[in-house]
Amino acid sequence: MQRFRGKAALVTGAAGGIGAAIVRRLRSEGAVVAVADRDVSGVEAEARLPGDLLDASYADGLPQAAFGALGALDIVVNNAGVITRGAVTATTDADWALSLGVNVEAPFRICRAAIPIMAGRGGGAIVNVASCWGVRPGPNHAVYCMTKAAVASLTQCMGMDHAHQNVRVNAVCPNEVNTPMLRTGFARRGFDPDTAVAELGRTVPLGRIAEPEDIADVVVFLASDAARYMCGSLVEVNGGKPVG
Ligand code: NAD
Repeated sequence: MQRFRGKAALVTGAAGGIGAAIVRRLRSEGAVVAVADRDVSGVEAEARLPGDLLDASYADGLPQAAFGALGALDIVVNNAGVITRGAVTATTDADWALSLGVNVEAPFRICRAAIPIMAGRGGGAIVNVASCWGVRPGPNHAVYCMTKAAVASLTQCMGMDHAHQNVRVNAVCPNEVNTPMLRTGFARRGFDPDTAVAELGRTVPLGRIAEPEDIADVVVFLASDAARYMCGSLVEVNGGKPVG
């Protein structure tokens, strides 16, 4: 299938587990892709735009940089994210600034810059990677849950506000996914990641946690013309397990 032939995409967090899978899917279906992450030297793509999303001018400039590098911009995937653990009482100022900066402010800046570019070209699709914890919060990750709820709400608002410009904004809300984010979290807490992933899989009705491709397939569906009537939707991708 070459659903994205002639389309140009920007993907953030492209060096991470889910991001790399999204880039592979888009390119395998014909898109040209600009990849953004702190280090994208190992990611195959048509354009590499490394940088730190906590740098406001970098985030503000990413859509125009992708447009300049690819000659078009039809799809933006705000996938980069960080997870901080703990209740509010265990949250440092640094955790707060990092979580808000990467998970909320950067997608806000990127969408704000991308929407006029897309609208001026007749439209486009933005897909934000939120979380099931942005729809229903889970325990002991207060600020992470709040940031994902914020990006979910922004998605719903932008989905309404920019549909008239033919810019569709939607989000995927995964539950647990087998990526470095999840595995390093287990390792930090002294668990063997393979054992922990297998045990976690037994808590999912479908019998396993998600692989990055399970999420990437839904992201590219939302980015595709098959989702042409979807605006502001939060799509849970959870194997039948709605909360973490
Ligand atoms: P990951 O850690 O493998 O990838 C995240 C990527 O974001 C990394 O490559 C990282 O370098 C990049 N990033 C983080 N901070 C950045 C910054 N300041 N500047 C530039 N890039 C930065 O994690 P993943 O699991 O692939 O996560 C992708 C998205 O999926 C995130 O938004 C995450 O919150 C969400 N998510 C993940 C899970 C899960 O269980 N893994 C569940 C629900 C939602």
